[in-house]
Amino acid sequence: MKFADLHLHTNLSDGTFTPEELVAQAQKHELACIALTDHDTVEGCARAAAACGPAGIEFIPGTELTAEHDDIEVHLLGYFLDTHNELLLAEIARFQAVRKQRIYEMVARINELGLPLQAETVFTLANCESPGRPHVARALVKERMVRNLDEAFERFLKKGRPAWVPKSKMSAREGVDLIHQAGGLAVMAHPGLNRTDDIIPALVAAGLDGIECFHSKHSNTLSKRYLAMAEQFGLLVTGGSDCHGFSKIRPLIGSVKIPYELVEKLKAKVAEKQRSGTSGHE
Ligand code: AMP
Ligand code: ZN
Ligand code: FE
Ligand code: FE
Repeated sequence: MKFADLHLHTNLSDGTFTPEELVAQAQKHELACIALTDHDTVEGCARAAAACGPAGIEFIPGTELTAEHDDIEVHLLGYFLDTHNELLLAEIARFQAVRKQRIYEMVARINELGLPLQAETVFTLANCESPGRPHVARALVKERMVRNLDEAFERFLKKGRPAWVPKSKMSAREGVDLIHQAGGLAVMAHPGLNRTDDIIPALVAAGLDGIECFHSKHSNTLSKRYLAMAEQFGLLVTGGSDCHGFSKIRPLIGSVKIPYELVEKLKAKVAEKQRSGTSGHE
């Protein structure tokens, strides 16, 4: 049996592995295929693809976009993207600018609370174009202003906490269109984590291709629930660990392995879209 993990992060967003380290981990876990899905970037894809070649691992270039529908946050995974697509890169640059501005705002709030954290500390630590809350949390730990990442989120960064700053997001429809025009498939990430059930029909109407039924934070019950929804709405099924690198116990990579057959179904859909001319690759 061949297996895949289609939800992985590196240090080009808020993961800790380099693309090369991630591929070494994939090899260790005997994965036949991986997709890189860093937040609001495709920057790590070239390096991951280069490392996958000699490792004999099939690579799918991807990303994870933060979008919203009816005030509900939804994460959209894009797969088989043309990572040179101009509109995709322009939009990604815009979201990255929003992310950087948000870091300054979160740091200002933390300063108002009496902690002298500097934005530069966060940016230096993040060392990427797509900084986010995990980098602020790591900077707080580094400066010994909190004991650990959980404390940083609980005291400051979680939604509703004093240093939480809402992020302006694209609509889910815009996200699906952006992925499609870059030749990709659009998949709803971890539906069990975002309370997104009510908006699934609207996203299907917007052209959603698939749904992430298997995820490290989905129970068996949740996986079954979304498998049934995939069937009901005619959506492709995906899955992945959402590994962000080193964590408390062990990295999540290897904890979710989906059968390679599911990747074949994704590839068949991409090929079908290319044939019918509805994809960006023309
Ligand atoms: P951002 O995109 O900047 O809003 O950051 C979101 C990321 O922060 C998610 O992808 C998670 O990796 C991480 N995250 C969100 N909530 C928590 C939490 N309570 N504890 C630890 N990490 C979290
Ligand atoms: Zn993340
Ligand atoms: Fe996510
Ligand atoms: Fe993720």
